[in-house]
Amino acid sequence: MVTKVLLADPRGFCAGVEMAIKSLTWMVQVFEPPVYCFHEIVHNGAVVHAFEEAGVIFVEDIDEVPVGRPVMLSAHGSAPDVVTAATERSAVMIDAVCPLVTKVHHEVRRLAGRGYEIIYVGHEGHDEAIGAIAEAPGSAQLVDPRIGLDTFVASEGSQVALLAQTTLGLYEWEGILADARERFPDLWTARKSDLCYATTNRQAAIQELALRSEVLLVVGSENSSNTQALVRVGHNAGVPTYRVDGADDVDESWLDGIEVVGVTAGASAPDRRVQRVIERIDPSEGSELVKVTAEDEYFPLPPQLRRLMASLQALVEGGFSCRSPGQAGPVENDREFTATEALAIIGV
Ligand code: SF4
Repeated sequence: MVTKVLLADPRGFCAGVEMAIKSLTWMVQVFEPPVYCFHEIVHNGAVVHAFEEAGVIFVEDIDEVPVGRPVMLSAHGSAPDVVTAATERSAVMIDAVCPLVTKVHHEVRRLAGRGYEIIYVGHEGHDEAIGAIAEAPGSAQLVDPRIGLDTFVASEGSQVALLAQTTLGLYEWEGILADARERFPDLWTARKSDLCYATTNRQAAIQELALRSEVLLVVGSENSSNTQALVRVGHNAGVPTYRVDGADDVDESWLDGIEVVGVTAGASAPDRRVQRVIERIDPSEGSELVKVTAEDEYFPLPPQLRRLMASLQALVEGGFSCRSPGQAGPVENDREFTATEALAIIGV
């Protein structure tokens, strides 16, 4: 019987996901449905489903957005031609890209402009990798860490730089970094890797849990890269580690004869799902928070959305009527408003 759950802190929503979820919540409150979103707003099935119920249509091709309809671009970052097409065909285009992804896009453009050939370490087919490489497709090549550096071809005498998807496992990044330094002694790479604070903090937290847990559960969806990285970190620490989307996925047989279970969540997994998993485990001595570090990062809403909300506010104050801007309160109070509260508005 499980006596205790060790609960990772930090876990779950990062600042980029918070911003993206709150942004799309504003959109569904302000506009009549449907609101369009290019790619899943974040990689979590429950969040995506809730927004679909609230009137969002997720598309994989920007041409699927009817001309004039409001559209949001996902947190993972979009290719420049997608941003341009969305701006041209939509009356209201909000780009909810995470600022830490934008930083990598800038680096791809800057280094390509200086003539570097770029190793971009990322997962084949992942939205973030596709968007970043599209900034300079003639200069950046995808190297999937699961395959290795052999696929990278450099021109004779070229300068080589190394960049990465923000949500990789540290174990993936370190392996490629070591290989790349050996193969290209003059390699350019940032002093600090592109792995974001949320990725590294969550991986540090699960390593801490692994020291005291007999089984680890990671709440998150299958297509969430950082969730999969957490599962792998758990396995690498020698602890049986399972990914669950929610409480229903918990297999009783995993917990047979187990006393201590570690629980964490990927950066796009709602905390209510984590709480339900703990309720399902029902530890006899309750749960203990294992705090590794404090996070206070905050990313403001996208500038296009802030401008839109300011215009709406001015219209309302000027006596025009428009659809209610919703229950979220003034947009200036965004810092105090959480994505969990936003999701509650749409029923998650
Ligand atoms: S995981 Fe990191 S890069 Fe991705 S949205 Fe969150 S903070 Fe941004």
